[in-house]
Amino acid sequence: MKHKGVLIVVSGFSGAGKGTLMKRLMQVYDNYALSVSMTTRSPREGEEDGVAYFFSTKEQFERTIAEDGLIEYACYCGNYYGTPKAYVEQQLEAGKDVVLEIEIQGALKVKEKFPESLLLFVTPPNAKELERRLVGRGTESQEVIAKRLARAYEESEGMEAYDYIVVNDVLEECVEEIHRLVEAARRAPVRREAFIKEIREELKEFSKGAEE
Ligand code: 5GP
Repeated sequence: MKHKGVLIVVSGFSGAGKGTLMKRLMQVYDNYALSVSMTTRSPREGEEDGVAYFFSTKEQFERTIAEDGLIEYACYCGNYYGTPKAYVEQQLEAGKDVVLEIEIQGALKVKEKFPESLLLFVTPPNAKELERRLVGRGTESQEVIAKRLARAYEESEGMEAYDYIVVNDVLEECVEEIHRLVEAARRAPVRREAFIKEIREELKEFSKGAEE
């Protein structure tokens, strides 16, 4: 199925600043819609149900999988995370560019299902900065931070699978870079099939003239 909007997958190490980046992207441009995922992890302080995530039990989550209600799902640090299907499809049909902020296993599944999707990997300029941001966030224990840093190393193995690596150093510049990549993706031949067909038909008429 060809969608009107661009399906954008944004992954990156935990602490790379994806959340802040996406929030800013939504504030600056109005063509984006952010998908809210479902998860079995507990809410962090200040996280609202239906805004940060749809927080659910393992049973609810597994029922949603069985009902084919998710585009993709993955297990990350012992919890389920998944993308509800209905919202994404509605928004793409309405012409919105939909952002999925998901980890790599999910990203690869999305690329498989929707080859025309745009996969972006957000990273801080270096590993030390990643550690600094995770500690500075102050929402996780030492143990969780260590787990996330170890996971970051594993995830670095998958960076080559993405279409673009985006270095998040200066927030505003990074937002602009992401927006430019989305605009460029809109011009890719897989998204311009109708245009290609039309101009080819027109050119065919010229070529007939030349043959005579
Ligand atoms: P956090 O617990 O820090 O909010 O998220 C942990 C990881 O799960 C992050 O890398 C985040 O991008 C990813 N994630 C969030 N929602 C989804 C989802 O719907 N599907 C997948 N595959 N990963 C998700």
